[in-house]
Amino acid sequence: MTPAKYKRVLLKLSGEAFSGGGEYGIDAPTLTKVAKQIKQVIEMGVGVAIVVGGGNIWRGAKAAEDGMDRVTADYAGMLATVINGLALQDALEREGVTTRVQTAIGIQQVAEPYIRRRAIRHLEKGRAVILAGGTGNPYMTSDTAAALRAIEIEAEVLLMTKNNVDGIYSADPQKNRNAKKFDKLTHLDILGMRLEVMDATALTLCLENKLPIIVFDLNAPRSIERAVTGDPIGTLVSSE
Ligand code: UDP
Repeated sequence: MTPAKYKRVLLKLSGEAFSGGGEYGIDAPTLTKVAKQIKQVIEMGVGVAIVVGGGNIWRGAKAAEDGMDRVTADYAGMLATVINGLALQDALEREGVTTRVQTAIGIQQVAEPYIRRRAIRHLEKGRAVILAGGTGNPYMTSDTAAALRAIEIEAEVLLMTKNNVDGIYSADPQKNRNAKKFDKLTHLDILGMRLEVMDATALTLCLENKLPIIVFDLNAPRSIERAVTGDPIGTLVSSE
C-alpha cells in the first residue's frame, strides 16, 4: 500500500456528503461509505479531523431570506452541523473507529467543547475528531471553520470534498460544457479568477497561512485515500 504523504489532515464534509442523492437529511448507506473511507486512512496512520457542514438540514442565509432573523437562523444552522456530527460519530463507531465530537457552541451533554490542545491530543491517540458547530459565530460558514481549524491544529492539508464535481473548473461544469478543469492552482489564482471553490473568508485564511487545499470528488473510488497518499486527484491548491 502507498504510504500516506500527510500525517495530519482536515477533512471538510458538507451537508451534501450526508444526504447522498437527496437534498435533505441523512442517508445511512452514504454515511457508512464515508466512514469506511475515513477508517482506512486512520489505519494508515493519518490523523483525521473532520469539520462537518449542515446544508442538508438547514442554511441560515436561506431561512433569513424567508424572513427569519439572520443570527437566530445561523445558530440553527450551527445546530444542524451538530446533528451531522453525531450521525458521523455513530457511523464511524459502528466501523470500530474511536471518535470524539467537539463543538464550537456549548452542548455539553452530547459533545466536548472545542479545545484545541485536546483535539490535538485525540488525534495523537488515533481518534477521529469531529468538529461541529462551525466557528461558533453567525455570518460564517463551515468552510471557514474548516480553514480555521486546519490551521489551528496544524493540519498539513485541507481536504475539501465536493459531491460529483472532481475539482476546480473555470466555470460550473454542470452548466457550461466548455468549462476547463485545473489540476493545480494557487490561492491567488482562485481569488483573481473569482472561481467558486469556497467562501472568500475561508480562502483568505488558507492563502495567508499557506495552507494547501485539495478539492476533489468524495464519491470517486478511494478518494480520501488517494488524496492523503498524494495520488493526483481533483485540484491541488498551493501557494506556489
Ligand atoms: N453556520 C454559521 N457559522 C459557522 C458555520 C455555519 O452560522 O461558522 C451556519 C450557517 O447558517 C450555515 C449553516 O450553519 O448556513 C450550515 O453550514 P454550511 O452552510 O457551511 O454547511 P455546508 O454548506 O458545508 O453543508
